[in-house]
Amino acid sequence: MEDGAGGTLRVRVPAKINLHLAVGPRRSDGFHDIVSVLQTISLYDTLRVHRNDDAHAAHPSARRHMRVALTLDGDEEAAGVPADASNLVLVAARRLMDHLGIGMDEDEDGDESGPWSRLHLTKRIPVAAGMAGGSADAAAALVGLNRLWGADLTIGALCDIAATVGSDVPFCVAGGTGLATGTGTSVARVLTRGTTHWVVGIDHAPLSTADVYAAFDRLEPPVPTGPDQVLHALRMGDLDGLAAALHNELEPAAIALRPELAERREAMLRAGALAAIVSGSGPTLLGLARDAIHARRLAAELEGHFDAVEVAAAPAGGPEILPGRAA
Ligand code: ATP
Repeated sequence: MEDGAGGTLRVRVPAKINLHLAVGPRRSDGFHDIVSVLQTISLYDTLRVHRNDDAHAAHPSARRHMRVALTLDGDEEAAGVPADASNLVLVAARRLMDHLGIGMDEDEDGDESGPWSRLHLTKRIPVAAGMAGGSADAAAALVGLNRLWGADLTIGALCDIAATVGSDVPFCVAGGTGLATGTGTSVARVLTRGTTHWVVGIDHAPLSTADVYAAFDRLEPPVPTGPDQVLHALRMGDLDGLAAALHNELEPAAIALRPELAERREAMLRAGALAAIVSGSGPTLLGLARDAIHARRLAAELEGHFDAVEVAAAPAGGPEILPGRAA
């Protein structure tokens, strides 16, 4: 990891899918309680983190202030990813620094004095697409900066900080397969057998999660459905059982806002997917394949129906620290 003065590392972090998503009525604080079975899937963003000082010289809290700057790859601002303090990477960095008692200084051009950390985000997870890309990036920041700064917080402590950043962030820190309850921030690990293969139909036009929940509130409430069937299929490695059990109560709301999703979902089924479902709040569509070869065949057949089509496997672990090159 070490790279001359300071240090650099990269964190590769996967997107998520919801195999089961049940949504309760809107609460008085505007949030919805959910019950969700989440799984990571092998579409990844990468966050490179670099610091100029020696993390081992002192515990990070001995540094009273630090400058933190974020840069993005070229096309990402155009795709709606903010480069300012509202980027979930910087929100997570600030929450971690608050926890460690470090103040965040504004980055002033050319000022190289004092400790600083530079973060660079490369996105491959579709943006505002129901795959928790921003939450994954926040998780990458927590895991990566915890290591880079030698803060040595446990995964449990990082999950507590993650819950203050966003509903999906604790799951993204933990990775694998989880059962999320409350507003999504309470996550229990789920036992699974085997790997599933998916075709992922991507629509570049974003769909706002808030808009999808507002549309959900205008529709008839769904008949209450529990996650048992999905949990059982995962435990048994029962692919057909999983295909029959996939459940997303935000799907009618996403389709109400983006009616063409219904036709595209049918196209996935016609092409031979075992099941097809909107991912989270959409507009990404997921088709369950029998195996990796089947997933590639489905992808080739579905190309004309989406802005982009990927194949991916689940579960895909959690944030993974890789050696990094200097920034
Ligand atoms: P979820 O499924 O968690 O609701 P999503 O996958 O639908 O999320 P994201 O890709 O996380 O959506 O992005 C939602 C919005 O968050 C974006 O439109 C953007 O304005 C903002 N955002 C902040 N930080 C990031 C980030 N690092 N990557 C992507 N979007 C970000």
